[in-house]
Amino acid sequence: MPSAYDPDPAALSALLAGEPAYRVRQLDEGLWRQLRRPIELTVLPKALRDRLEAALPPALRVVTESVCDAGRTTKWVFALHDDATIETVAMAYRDRVTVCISSQAGCAMGCTFCATGQAGFRRHLAAAELIEQVVAAARSVEPRRVSNVVFMGMGEPLANYDATIATLRALNERVGISARHLTVSTVGVAPAIERLAIDAPTVTLAVSLHAANDALRDTLVPLNRTYPLERLETACHQWNASTGRRMSFEWALIDGVNDRLRDADELAAIARRVRAHVNLIPLNPTPGYPTRGTPREGVERFRDALESHGVNATIRATRGREIDAACGQLAAVAGGKVPRRSRVGVEVSPVRGR
Ligand code: SAH
Ligand code: SF4
Repeated sequence: MPSAYDPDPAALSALLAGEPAYRVRQLDEGLWRQLRRPIELTVLPKALRDRLEAALPPALRVVTESVCDAGRTTKWVFALHDDATIETVAMAYRDRVTVCISSQAGCAMGCTFCATGQAGFRRHLAAAELIEQVVAAARSVEPRRVSNVVFMGMGEPLANYDATIATLRALNERVGISARHLTVSTVGVAPAIERLAIDAPTVTLAVSLHAANDALRDTLVPLNRTYPLERLETACHQWNASTGRRMSFEWALIDGVNDRLRDADELAAIARRVRAHVNLIPLNPTPGYPTRGTPREGVERFRDALESHGVNATIRATRGREIDAACGQLAAVAGGKVPRRSRVGVEVSPVRGR
């Protein structure tokens, strides 16, 4: 299906065959810099605009748009051409606007604590479907500009490698977002981290660690059985060696599961070896994993333990909880949407025994 945001410029040139060369530039500028639809590009003759609009239908259809945090967080459920659904979140802060995009409809990695993982995999997204999420969010925050994009929505970006790389390039080179403000978050696909270090060495890498011993990580992140910690650590060293850039470890603090001092000691050891910064976020409970996140004092204790080992750690604020837009809560796989009532039931259910 042709798309206005096909990262291959040849796609647009083919549509403009027979037109003067400057029309290609006008269309490119209108789509990628001004983020307009073809029909809005009044610099083009009306007949051409109409033809382009018909030839390049939007890749995303809004199913729902929910707003919270006093208008600063917006979540969209978008339907794709085949009715697969994905979610995108825009978060406006004082100094930046961050868009969280999905790389797949669903996810095949099956992390037990993640709503997307619980819902299963539907398909990979095409690069244009990733890029259009940023464009849609960018249009909605105008006149502000999107400064940061994080691949932390639904799906595992490094399992959809080619589309992820094409998206990173297009967002940087054609939309103009700085590469270090593009963050790829991965559950730890070790060989793909090593490829990313070659193909996109200037982007930011976040590795979702959550456990620093194989026995525990095997239960939380099934991919750990394929790429256990030692293999993942090799990939992290490779990233450092070829990019010279510091990565971060994401750690969702789960009450009584990975928030004990022993866990902090194990995490500190690996974080020091690979010089990673640690981002801590209390787990958001999901229907399939109703354990609660670590309460605030425990989160602070864990952060202090890491810092006592010389590891930098940041406690991340959660956005979008009321609209199910928080980390790990995205689950809009067609047919897999969890009914609201059962979520509420889960939120009030007792904490799992230790
Ligand atoms: N698949 C990639 C990116 C999408 S998930 C990855 O796993 O990194 C984005 C982030 O949300 C990851 O750090 C993931 O571990 C985290 N996450 C998943 N479920 C969560 C939950 N219930 N609470 C808090 N964070 C969660
Ligand atoms: Fe997939 Fe990431 Fe969720 Fe794991 S945490 S199931 S890799 S989206």
